[in-house]
Amino acid sequence: MQVPLLDINRQHADIKDELTQVFADALSTSRFIKGPDMEALEREFSEYSGTADAIGCASGTDALILALQAIGLKRDELVITVPFTFFATAGAIVRAGGTPVFIDILPDTFNMDPDLLEEWLNANCAVTNRGTVHRKTGKRVAAIMPVHIFGQICNMDSINATASNWDLPVIEDAAQAAGAKWRDSRAGSLGSIGCFSFFPSKNLGALGDGGMLTTDSPDLAERLRSIREHGGKGYLHAEVGTNSRLDAIQAGFLRVKLRKLEEWHAGRRANADRYNKAFDDVDQVKTPVIDPRALSIYNQYTIQAENRDELLSFLRSKQIGCAVYYPLPLHLQECFADLGYSKGDFVISENCSEKVISLPVFGELTREEQDEVIAAVKEFYQR
Ligand SMILES: *Cc1c(COP(=O)(O)O)cnc(C)c1O
Repeated sequence: MQVPLLDINRQHADIKDELTQVFADALSTSRFIKGPDMEALEREFSEYSGTADAIGCASGTDALILALQAIGLKRDELVITVPFTFFATAGAIVRAGGTPVFIDILPDTFNMDPDLLEEWLNANCAVTNRGTVHRKTGKRVAAIMPVHIFGQICNMDSINATASNWDLPVIEDAAQAAGAKWRDSRAGSLGSIGCFSFFPSKNLGALGDGGMLTTDSPDLAERLRSIREHGGKGYLHAEVGTNSRLDAIQAGFLRVKLRKLEEWHAGRRANADRYNKAFDDVDQVKTPVIDPRALSIYNQYTIQAENRDELLSFLRSKQIGCAVYYPLPLHLQECFADLGYSKGDFVISENCSEKVISLPVFGELTREEQDEVIAAVKEFYQR
């Protein structure tokens, strides 16, 4: 039996009429950019996330870039993040003019290690009248950018405590975590700004590119709305922004999908629970660890597996969808060679990159399909 890693068609089959209606409405009104659907989505998404405001934009990558500009990142300033993430996290920092500083992750949750964060700041930085400054280079630290990887929120109690000690804004890369919770708070409501992606394969995906920013600050919201449209007020520009708007039609699709999101998450979580139980007696498989304070929406179900590359080939030979997120940590990417990192600098991230493999977890996965995945993994280790 063929098992896809993700089959968006199944999700869409359920809401096809509503999606088609969105398209028909856009065609008849000729409203293609922003518009009432985007404003409604902004309201509904901020309500869902528990923030005062939400600002639509063109992608998750743009959301990160806009957020960095809005908090006042200047050229060559430092932004602290993790090496074990999708490329866009650090790519956005560089595109916004900054320099990424990497902090290693925790081996269980794959998220930023808050102790290492505090340690790095203590060892390298000082609070001055210019803000928190890296002593050796004199560069200002502009922000901390934790990533809620695979749908699980970072330890935001600790990260926020450190951020407040050092007077640093926190920008959440919540691209994989719409709806995830830390205690009772949703992703995007825990830092100064939350950044979301609606890339089609994300847990809340558009039918194209899209992104969203969340914030409680009216000033940041106003600034973000300005920067996403060239940074002006009318035709008067105090700063240079960009063109990063959300299409009306994508906003319409996303409104339909947002109403289903909790139901889809329940499906993902039930599938994750089933895998966890099934792999309990497989010593070579380490199932994902969720912090008891966190509620994961399992954007990915990622195990750490012995002989990962052989398992990957074995599953693929059986036509079972699986993927490695992410095979090379960012500090070892060619484009970041000038940052001066080398192999061995972040051993947890490096080790995870060699062990991780993500299995199908989407809500509409059938029991038979999941049993097939489980049986194949077990067969591999019993051979
Ligand atoms: C997908 C993703 C992004 C980028 O989102 P796009 O909408 O594809 O630009 C950024 N960070 C993380 C962690 C992601 O998974």
